[in-house]
Amino acid sequence: MTDLRLSGIGMTSARTRDRLVQRLREQGIANLAVLDRIRNVPRHIFVDEALGSRAYEDTALPIGYGQTISQPYIVARMTEALLAAGAADSVLEVGTGCGYQTAVLAPLVARLYTIERIEPLLARARERLRELGVRNVRFRHGDGTLGWRAHAPFDGILVAAAPLTVPEALVKQLRVGGRLVVPVGPEGEQELVRFTRREQGVQRESLGAVAFVPLLGGTA
Ligand code: SAH
Repeated sequence: MTDLRLSGIGMTSARTRDRLVQRLREQGIANLAVLDRIRNVPRHIFVDEALGSRAYEDTALPIGYGQTISQPYIVARMTEALLAAGAADSVLEVGTGCGYQTAVLAPLVARLYTIERIEPLLARARERLRELGVRNVRFRHGDGTLGWRAHAPFDGILVAAAPLTVPEALVKQLRVGGRLVVPVGPEGEQELVRFTRREQGVQRESLGAVAFVPLLGGTA
């Protein structure tokens, strides 16, 4: 990929990205490291070239296979919620999709593990992150509902698709003090929730209404 394609021109330029960051600030995103990633990750390389001019709009866009790249506000909000209590060493992401959320989050944590059930999406994400020089990510083709036991426990788990109820395995793979940020519920009635694992049980906080694709079992 050429430097020009990475840095962006016209509708993918620095000025367009600054406008997006300004908008997210106005909507309450305050974590400067997160805003910095939103400014610096070239979102246009994660979408089809024909959609490149819309990459810095605060909207979800199709990435094929019936899936979408998450809306920048949601990526920022989830990342901020995950990192709220300070440094996170080891984080699991469920639903890699095109890898945009992965690219935003990876440099903010020591190690990022990411699972996607649709293999061609995972392959493309792996390629994009390599191009961006992001190296602290391990990729897995599989069903993220089950978590990734070999690397548990995690300081944080971020789920980019909505289960009807919270997968038990994910809660079990949290370290005490660890946080799980997950949209929960049926289409049209989803709520973003943050669970924090305590010595005794889990604490639940609602972060508001959201709209995600469903979390599905199995692989494709
Ligand atoms: N944050 C991603 C959003 C991807 S959309 C991005 O910015 O591109 C959610 C993704 O979750 C889809 O790619 C979908 O295939 C994946 N997914 C759904 N159920 C899954 C499961 N059980 N395990 C792993 N990935 C899953």
